[in-house]
Amino acid sequence: MKIAILPGDGIGVEIVAQAVRVMGVLDLPFETEHALVGGAAYEAHGHPLPESTLKLAQAADAVLFGAVGDWKYDTLERSLRPEQAILGLRKHLGLFANFRPAICYEQLTHASSLKPELVAGLDILIIRELTGDIYFGQPRGRRRAPDGAFAGAEEAFDTMRYSRPEIERIAHTAFQAAQKRSKRLTSVDKANVLETFQFWKDVVIEVHAEYPDVALDHMYVDNAAMQLVRAPKKFDVIVTGNMFGDILSDEAAMLTGSIGMLPSASLNAAGQGLYEPSHGSAPDIAGKDLANPLATILSVAMMLRFSLDQTAAADRIDAAVQRVLASGLRTADIWSEGTRKVGTRAMGDAVVAAIKTTTTKG
Ligand code: NAD
Repeated sequence: MKIAILPGDGIGVEIVAQAVRVMGVLDLPFETEHALVGGAAYEAHGHPLPESTLKLAQAADAVLFGAVGDWKYDTLERSLRPEQAILGLRKHLGLFANFRPAICYEQLTHASSLKPELVAGLDILIIRELTGDIYFGQPRGRRRAPDGAFAGAEEAFDTMRYSRPEIERIAHTAFQAAQKRSKRLTSVDKANVLETFQFWKDVVIEVHAEYPDVALDHMYVDNAAMQLVRAPKKFDVIVTGNMFGDILSDEAAMLTGSIGMLPSASLNAAGQGLYEPSHGSAPDIAGKDLANPLATILSVAMMLRFSLDQTAAADRIDAAVQRVLASGLRTADIWSEGTRKVGTRAMGDAVVAAIKTTTTKG
């Protein structure tokens, strides 16, 4: 099991270190290799996704990714910014389906900004398409001011675009995921205003013909944003485009208490995947031992389940995280009265200890 470890920037380095410690106590034959990505790679090699990092990721069975970015790179030309590394990895590895489960752990019901009864037992899955939409449409650009500066520009534009094969493959992925859960799928679009999303809706309806056992419904994105905070448990699996998925999955993250709890998987057609927390590099808390490493640790569980066929090991991680939460340990982002606040490293220690106990018990 070859795993490329790409910690990246900011808290990425701290949280991935804890996830790697967890991998180390699973008694599995991992072959891990670290590489630079994002701002760290730009500093060392002049590019956020150096050829050597890309090659390592391509040769691996799975990639464990931390996070990239820092405000200090905001003035760099776009192609050199740290975030381009993620787009590059998605493109080169053909990662088209982003799975973001939003699960509200019983122990964190009170950490959510919603009333406990709205989120207790919440377990939904958002599937975001990753390769199309306005993030990759052509043409894109801006009409520059005479001196080339952005401040004086007259206009800027990006183009929303989806091809039939792109919609078909994400729809198949979503219907199949729904078949493994409660057989309900909500496709989120903006078909009332955007041609691209009328097309999306039409193609999803066509693909539905192959999955008669799944109940499909459609919802406009503005309504979906509202329903997610009004009655989130009504959803089971949501499938949507790149930009709507980006926004809705962050919204869903807050239902669970903190974005620091949410893992994610980005998969290609061969089942190879990139696993990362749903959050960014959090420069505001980087290097302070404050970051919650659980989203990254839970991303390792997704990696074991989706790419490495190691369900038992994935279950051990999930159970260990539940036990640590049940014991009352919390990082600052999920802390509440009556629980014990710990740092990134101590949270990692606790999960490692919980997994070791499971091993001993056999
Ligand atoms: P962010 O997710 O980094 O942070 C948002 C807020 O959540 C911050 O207050 C942060 O402290 C908090 N937070 C995030 N992760 C946390 C954790 N594990 N534990 C505790 N608190 C946590 O988003 P942002 O501030 O908008 O962006 C910061 C940088 O990250 C930017 O450069 C952005 O481009 C980049 N980014 C990268 C990715 C990625 O690498 N996949 C995703 C989103 C943003």
